[in-house]
Amino acid sequence: MATLEIKDLHASVTTEDGAKEILKGVNLTIRSGETHAIMGPNGSGKSTLSYAIAGHPKYTVTSGEVLLDGENVLEMSVDERARAGLFLAMQYPVEVPGVSMSNFLRTAATAVRGEAPKLRHWVKEVKEEMGKLGISQEFAERSVNEGFSGGEKKRHEILQLALLKPKFAILDETDSGLDVDALRVVSEGVNEYKAGNEVGVMLITHYTRILRHITPDFVHVFADGRIVESGGRELADELEENGYVKYAGSPEPAK
Ligand code: ADP
Ligand code: MG
Ligand code: MG
Repeated sequence: MATLEIKDLHASVTTEDGAKEILKGVNLTIRSGETHAIMGPNGSGKSTLSYAIAGHPKYTVTSGEVLLDGENVLEMSVDERARAGLFLAMQYPVEVPGVSMSNFLRTAATAVRGEAPKLRHWVKEVKEEMGKLGISQEFAERSVNEGFSGGEKKRHEILQLALLKPKFAILDETDSGLDVDALRVVSEGVNEYKAGNEVGVMLITHYTRILRHITPDFVHVFADGRIVESGGRELADELEENGYVKYAGSPEPAK
């Protein structure tokens, strides 16, 4: 049993006009085995929360704590965070020309496992997981994220999840840009990983539709840099019905 604790987290982003506070006191505890949906309007700071936990250089934690089994995540390097069992899909959004997916994933797996997987085993492992996710085999030879469609990027994230086997996975807008078929494949990938591993999932999303595929144990409404309400699955139904008006004064629907 592992625990990820976010305590009164404040963070700002560096802009041309200086620092702007985005996170205004986030409190959340996730235990392994639990799936927490974080839902909120655009611009409320959801991605900033994942960047702050990832240690993105543009985002500065000004106060508060992030603890993984009591260990201070904010003091860890990005590699140390991965080795501690934290998976952040946002960690690898960039194009890396000239580095094949297979090599890239092997480097990531080496960081997490503490030793390089044997090449022959690795090729087999990657093939197997790609097959399960319906990813074509030529994908392994392509450069990281180069010319990937939105759907391919998301499948890549789920492939990383399956190969790196984290204790906690933070998936930001995993549903955005996915057509119905891709959404189903990605959701099945997450669900299969959840079924086989004691993982805690933070599923960040603007829309409720992915929650028809991945059932959350808890739903949190995120508005203006903090969690303003928490509940069970029924809270997502309420958001689908009424949008975020009540929380953000914005009429946009959450569908
Ligand atoms: P969400 O993911 O909920 O849509 P974000 O965390 O992306 O929200 O953004 C929260 C706020 O922080 C927005 O007002 C956004 O404009 C601002 N922000 C986020 N990242 C940056 C950045 N790199 N530079 C400037 N402003 C940013
Ligand atoms: Mg946004
Ligand atoms: Mg976002």
